[in-house]
Amino acid sequence: MPDTMIPPARYDHIAVEERLGAHNYQPLDVVLTRGEGVWVWDVDGNRYLDCLAGYSAVNQGHCHPRIRAALIEQSGRLTLTSRAFRNDQLAPYLEELCALTRSHMVLPMNTGAEAVETAIKAVRKWGHEVKGVPEGAAEIIVCAENFHGRTIAVIGFSTDPETRGGFGPFAPGFRIVPFGDAAALEAAMTRNTVGVLLEPIQGEAGVVIPPPGYLRRVRDLCTRHDVTLILDEIQTGLGRTGRLLAEEHEGIEADVTLVGKALSGGFYPVSAVLSNTAVLGVLRPGQHGSTFGGNPLACAVARAALRVLVEEGMIANAAQLGAYLLAGLRGIAGGRVREARGRGLMLAVELHPEAGGARRWCEALRRAGLLCKDTHGHTIRISPPLVLTRAEADWALDRIAAVLTGPTPAAVA
Ligand SMILES: *Cc1c(COP(=O)(O)O)cnc(C)c1O
Repeated sequence: MPDTMIPPARYDHIAVEERLGAHNYQPLDVVLTRGEGVWVWDVDGNRYLDCLAGYSAVNQGHCHPRIRAALIEQSGRLTLTSRAFRNDQLAPYLEELCALTRSHMVLPMNTGAEAVETAIKAVRKWGHEVKGVPEGAAEIIVCAENFHGRTIAVIGFSTDPETRGGFGPFAPGFRIVPFGDAAALEAAMTRNTVGVLLEPIQGEAGVVIPPPGYLRRVRDLCTRHDVTLILDEIQTGLGRTGRLLAEEHEGIEADVTLVGKALSGGFYPVSAVLSNTAVLGVLRPGQHGSTFGGNPLACAVARAALRVLVEEGMIANAAQLGAYLLAGLRGIAGGRVREARGRGLMLAVELHPEAGGARRWCEALRRAGLLCKDTHGHTIRISPPLVLTRAEADWALDRIAAVLTGPTPAAVA
């Protein structure tokens, strides 16, 4: 039996996971074993449409054959050198990523949170060395209801009590302003402000889209006050909103852009900090690093993941089918559904509180063959892989409509 094959028959995955795994997640009780495109299968052979896509890490669809081929090929040649030596995948990767995103410089990391941490370090150093902010006085402005990952520095400026409660002490140097309010942002800027860090659309907060013109105003304020604009596009980026980067919807360019998740198509953790040279240019040898960042396997996988995203038309498909799905979801609004919103294939359905919370509806959707994730109590996120077809969108809409207009499911324990 291959090492990866699950023990046959009646193996109780859920009981074992609950007994041996830390309880920092509360998954739906579905045990998945296989995926292809927008579909996943559980160990009992049931098929589901994946409406989470690994929090947008699987934009290219599950087990995309071209990315898989790159992974297999590269894993038989060279996987890790550390940055102590050079490898022959890094330069082409940097070149392709810069060309695609119109960036000047890249710092390769692994997870999204590491990319955020890296950006914080770089803009603080830039603030000190270039802007002239006294050492230790740098301030970064972030937005309420943000989600930027799970490390100590990052959760320290979360406004979610669940995310930060009990984990202090935290790193100083962050100011929090309401999301979508450019006047509040300007009021919070001081001589020591080095950066503004925000998500173009707040994903974890429930797909919160800021008012039109907000990002453009933030861009102008940052330019006027000599502040670095850092856009966390780890979730909104790489086609999810129907553009390569969500910043394009307002025709702006961040100084620093963070990407991760779909940068590997879900095969492997790959993230990157993209910037103009002024910010990343302040980092000198020995001042930052990562054992795995920029390794040849990651580079080969990311090159393939970017190529299929562009060559297979996934970004335009996200725009078209996102608009189609949103119109369909808006058709269900009324009754229990308070609002359907989204951009591209980053969608959400918000229920009225009387519906009894989104979790039970996600359980009901699972029984109907869709895997969705509840967030913030009453919101169901719908963000399938970008390879969704029109027929699959119709299939999903029929079931979502039937479930959300059907009988109220029992509460889950
Ligand atoms: C997922 C996410 C992160 C963190 O990425 P990890 O790979 O889980 O560390 C950061 N920012 C945003 C907007 C995200 O969606």
